[in-house]
Amino acid sequence: MTETLVAYDDVLASYDPAMGLEVHVELNTASKMFCGCPTEFGAEPNTQVCPTCLGLPGAMPVVNGKAVESAIRIGLALNCEIAEWCRFARKNYFYPDMPKNFQTSQYDEPICFDGWMDVDVDGETFRVEIERAHMEEDTGKSLHVGGATGRIHGADHSLVDYNRAGIPLIEIVTKPIVGAGEKAPLVARAYVAQLRDLIIALGVSDARMDQGSIRADVNLSLSAKGSGTLGTRTETKNVNSLRSVERAVRYEMSRHAAVLESGRTILQETRHWHEDTGVTTSGREKSDAEDYRYFPEPDLVPVAPSREWVEELRATLPENPTQKRARLQAEWGFSDLEMRDTVGAGALLIVEQTIAAGASPQAARKWWLGEMARRANEAGVEVGELGVTPVDVARVQVLVDEGKLNDKLARQVFDGLLAGEGTPDEIVAARGLAIVSDEGALSAAVDKAIADNPDVADKIRDGKVAAAGALIGAVMKEMRGQADAARVRELILEKLT
Ligand SMILES: [Zn+2]
Repeated sequence: MTETLVAYDDVLASYDPAMGLEVHVELNTASKMFCGCPTEFGAEPNTQVCPTCLGLPGAMPVVNGKAVESAIRIGLALNCEIAEWCRFARKNYFYPDMPKNFQTSQYDEPICFDGWMDVDVDGETFRVEIERAHMEEDTGKSLHVGGATGRIHGADHSLVDYNRAGIPLIEIVTKPIVGAGEKAPLVARAYVAQLRDLIIALGVSDARMDQGSIRADVNLSLSAKGSGTLGTRTETKNVNSLRSVERAVRYEMSRHAAVLESGRTILQETRHWHEDTGVTTSGREKSDAEDYRYFPEPDLVPVAPSREWVEELRATLPENPTQKRARLQAEWGFSDLEMRDTVGAGALLIVEQTIAAGASPQAARKWWLGEMARRANEAGVEVGELGVTPVDVARVQVLVDEGKLNDKLARQVFDGLLAGEGTPDEIVAARGLAIVSDEGALSAAVDKAIADNPDVADKIRDGKVAAAGALIGAVMKEMRGQADAARVRELILEKLT
């Protein structure tokens, strides 16, 4: 079903967007939230389960202390208050991948609340207010078999894997983000990117969007421009890349406007994001909180973190992101524009890691924002998901710095890295990419180019040094690009002037 859409500029002429982002972070604790089952990703289905996470009668949950610690550290990093006393709550609903028929979550007593994070977009700072960050458990996973789409519709049977049931999650919920205007999609993207970098810096999760260890739900509503009210919202679930966060906001803005322009009303519902087509489709009508019949979990003791413990954890926080960006910009000598582009591309952390692995700041920026960004864009993924690591990029740059590769050859090494051909050094050896440093071979190639192009050679002898470019080109072609162009130029001028 194709929806009518309103052009983005026309949406902005008539409406103000409001967003709300709900980000689920899967913690990297060794065991689950309420039992001792292991949490490794990718195990055989239903091998990491026990009576507690299968919800068998009489099984008693116990809170994972490490997960509480991670929750508090996330909250502190987001400038939240930490509750002195809070409880878990049962969120009651039926779903086959949730064997207890309730999810153990937190309701009106979240462990972290009232925080904020400053988000940089194109040199402008937006303060995103955090309403709460609470602890809960993940559900199992259903696999729908036999249909074309992998969804339940059209499937002939479904399988359930409970390995994920009970994995600790932190859900971070923003207050409505208003006032972003045309930058709303970029603010949403930048918020999730910065949050991901913060989670990685805290070391509390793998933070892999492609594996679902960070998942974003994007709420969006439109209101008449300048009205200051909030419209009816939709919630687009499980948006699994930064690029998709931006696209989903933009798409929903255009779709909402089309619905409103046609005189219909927006249905409060969840929607599915389709990565391949870049559209959302209707999911289910959104339940209100009262439908879940929340009540305090009777089988778990309340969580009451002492103030001393909270302060100890505060002392373990990484540098705050705003200060860190300012420090890195000064250390790297980036202009405001260079820094802005790096942050905007979601590449700050990966550039930092590449510099730490031995590349110069400008080289790290050049590769990730140029060559890697182009390839990621072609593949429709984030730069961090290309399969090329910061260590690889740094090694390639070291080879360039040592005169063993030029940029053209380096790009061929990246081809090899993307094709899974091994390390940069292995690829250089296997593909025979190293620059020829044998002066005899270079000199012979220069002599041949001079002999093949006597008129060009005469111009250079007459002092038209600019003509050397044609001979350099001929030599590079002869050497299949594996020569140092600056050295070739020197040799040509030595021979002809
Ligand atoms: Zn278990």
